[in-house]
Amino acid sequence: MPSPIIRIDSIVKRYGPLTVLDGLSMNVMPGEKLALIGPSGSGKTTILRILMTLESISGGHIEVDGEQLYHMKKGADLVAADERHLHRMRKKIGMVFQHFNLFPHKCVLDNVTLAPMLTQGATRADAEKRAMDLLDMVGMADKAKAVPAQLSGGQKQRVAIARALALSPKIMLFDEVTSALDPELVEEVLNVMRRLAAETDMTMLLVTHEMGFAHDFADRVLFFDRGKIVEEGGPDEIFRNPKQERTQTFLRKII
Ligand code: ADP
Repeated sequence: MPSPIIRIDSIVKRYGPLTVLDGLSMNVMPGEKLALIGPSGSGKTTILRILMTLESISGGHIEVDGEQLYHMKKGADLVAADERHLHRMRKKIGMVFQHFNLFPHKCVLDNVTLAPMLTQGATRADAEKRAMDLLDMVGMADKAKAVPAQLSGGQKQRVAIARALALSPKIMLFDEVTSALDPELVEEVLNVMRRLAAETDMTMLLVTHEMGFAHDFADRVLFFDRGKIVEEGGPDEIFRNPKQERTQTFLRKII
């Protein structure tokens, strides 16, 4: 039995008086595809940002790939340790954001090659070769020289996925990656993610409001409410036969 690639143990996250995560625990096995669903404000994005070490935490432990993520005391909070540690951990995890966050003045190819060249010491030739393979995979190779302003939202998001993959992370985090897209552009992004999920053994965590996609994508679905996991199970179990009343009410409203 392999051990979990992510162990989250009793995480507490507060913003001032607001408790956003309230003693949350979960484990993720290598290669697992997880969907995090639940009402707005329930803490789904916060848990991804914490995994990406973009936040501090107020208590608890997180281990990724056998290493503790937060262990430096800063005031009442715990922050990720020194820069070198942070740098190493960030190479293990890639994240795709709702609003793409591409570098606006760089072309598509440079957006994808920049991090491998800066942080992994890749040569330009190697980084470009890998970037073109990834852009090909997301159907964007013909736009390699375009700048983000010349792309549709769906195209930008596919480039953002290629960019996150360029560092060969073991874990990919997707934060509502289709919520900022016009409806007709959603499917092209979901198709890329479907293929990724089917063809790679990367561990993937997805926050989404696309329940149909969550059902098809995930091995396991976690229902969040008010900073806690209220219910979890296989997609058929959660979507067809939810046991908790809060899950039932949420799904009735959204589907
Ligand atoms: P979800 O992804 O489930 O919609 P979030 O994790 O984005 O929820 O947010 C959880 C709660 O944390 C919300 O009430 C949100 O307003 C609050 N929150 C998130 N970021 C901050 C911040 N930087 N400062 C204060 N409150 C925040």
